[in-house]
Amino acid sequence: MNYSRVPIKHSDPVERVKSLDVQTLIPYTLEEVTAEASRCLGCGLCVEGCPARIDVPGFQIALKNGNIEEGLKINFEKLPFVGVCGSVCPHPCEDNCVLDDNKGPVATRHIKRYISENSQNYKEMLGIVQNDLGGHPKVAIIGGGPSGLSTAFYLSINGIQVDIYEATDKPGGMMVHGIPDFRLSRNTVRKETEHVLSYGAHIYYNKKIGRDVKFEELMEKYDAIYIAIGNWKPSKTRTPGVDLKGVYHAIDFLKQINDGKKIDVGDTVAIIGGGFTAFDAARMSLRLGAKKVVVMYRRSVSDRPGYPSSNAEEELEEAEEEKVQFIWEVTPIEYYGKDGKVKGIRYWKNQMVDKGTGRREPVPLKDRKYSIEVDTVVEATGQKGDLSFIPEDIMKKIEITSSGDIRVNQYNMTSYPGIFAGGDITNARKDIISGVADSGRASMGILFYFKDTGKIEKVPAKLINFERGPYAVT
Ligand SMILES: Cc1cc2nc3c(=O)[nH]c(=O)nc-3n(C[C@H](O)[C@H](O)[C@H](O)COP(=O)(O)OP(=O)(O)OC[C@H]3O[C@@H](n4cnc5c(N)ncnc54)[C@H](O)[C@@H]3O)c2cc1C
Ligand code: SF4
Repeated sequence: MNYSRVPIKHSDPVERVKSLDVQTLIPYTLEEVTAEASRCLGCGLCVEGCPARIDVPGFQIALKNGNIEEGLKINFEKLPFVGVCGSVCPHPCEDNCVLDDNKGPVATRHIKRYISENSQNYKEMLGIVQNDLGGHPKVAIIGGGPSGLSTAFYLSINGIQVDIYEATDKPGGMMVHGIPDFRLSRNTVRKETEHVLSYGAHIYYNKKIGRDVKFEELMEKYDAIYIAIGNWKPSKTRTPGVDLKGVYHAIDFLKQINDGKKIDVGDTVAIIGGGFTAFDAARMSLRLGAKKVVVMYRRSVSDRPGYPSSNAEEELEEAEEEKVQFIWEVTPIEYYGKDGKVKGIRYWKNQMVDKGTGRREPVPLKDRKYSIEVDTVVEATGQKGDLSFIPEDIMKKIEITSSGDIRVNQYNMTSYPGIFAGGDITNARKDIISGVADSGRASMGILFYFKDTGKIEKVPAKLINFERGPYAVT
């Protein structure tokens, strides 16, 4: 038996940077997916790596036997966004794979993408049995990103009335406003979002809580609230020149482009940062016509966010294939400009110093100053949640972590009974699968809360049941 990983092919980098939506990774064929799924040893270590604890060996066996429907159902038990995670999940499960040190971890994420792309009609294939729990209380969900939508899915298939309030004009959150199309096809997001909403949840668009609807109104009208507003407030640096024309924050930059706006980035773009968002902003800049894109990060390549992981390696490989350049260990001193428009960056070289904090810290070497001429600067320096819509008297009763996120219990309930929260506004990983895992816990928590307050008669043993197949209701 050949234990080597079936290679995942990439599209031609020279061609793909000419388009906003040519996918970087080429899907497996039937032959490839069967061979790759057959490599799974069934040890289950990967399950511990997955934030949602998906039964990875279960769906590998299903795929090995050519049973896509079963593979889809096993994923759906914990994840209504199989195609989304099959495209962009950072796949921590693969970092736990026992084959990782040898011939490459089983390509779990890519196998998941195959399942999604070869499942034409989710609703028909899944045959979900909608539960009747002896009551139909109402839940308001704030935010239509992956976490809000997943909670809406799990609650609506359990007979709960769900209204989602979404600030923008479309569902998906960062799946459509942040992550570029060339990594996550909009068709995949559309297909999975429409499916999730097809079980009865209602979504109000252009309804930002705090701007268009008061939070207090939701408190009066609904029996529970799930806050899934993500992190949308850009954390800009205070680098002199940050307000010059041509200096963007990555969240605004990517949102504008994803909404169809054209941005003239000129020939040279510098990205400040080293995470998911920095890599996406860099690769997007190439697709907008930049001839040179440089990512400038304050730490070293091996101290960047997400490293070490196979996802971080892949991210770097895909960017390097497209000729993105990197300047590691630097701190911008100033964005300088002419006539109000950015012209360049002056920066220090850093030294990475072990200060005993567990992570090496960058310290600028102030005698080593450099500069680079640029037409555009994109700061990918993080973002935070904006909780200003919550009135002060309620906010006082909601515990906040030291990093400004909402603190929740094991069922994602906040310290205010009946108010739950999940996704980027609560979890530290800040990725889609963690937000979806929050939704599973919160949905169960909301049902327990309704049972305790007499709004429903019973709580199901599992959130999801199917008419037929290995997980069918008996
Ligand atoms: C550029 C970029 C690339 C990324 N790449 C990846 C990746 O490859 N893999 C991965 O797993 N994760 C990635 N992430 C992270 C991922 O997108 C998030 O972890 C995930 O979307 C969080 O889901 P969420 O539902 O908590 O919030 P979001 O997706 O942010 O959705 C929140 C929603 O709430 C709405 N909202 C906000 N405030 C209000 C309000 N007051 N009233 C009503 N609605 C409101 C917003 O409009 C939005 O639709 C990336 C993020 C970015 C920015
Ligand atoms: S969702 Fe992500 S972490 Fe979980 S099994 Fe799939 S690829 Fe792995």
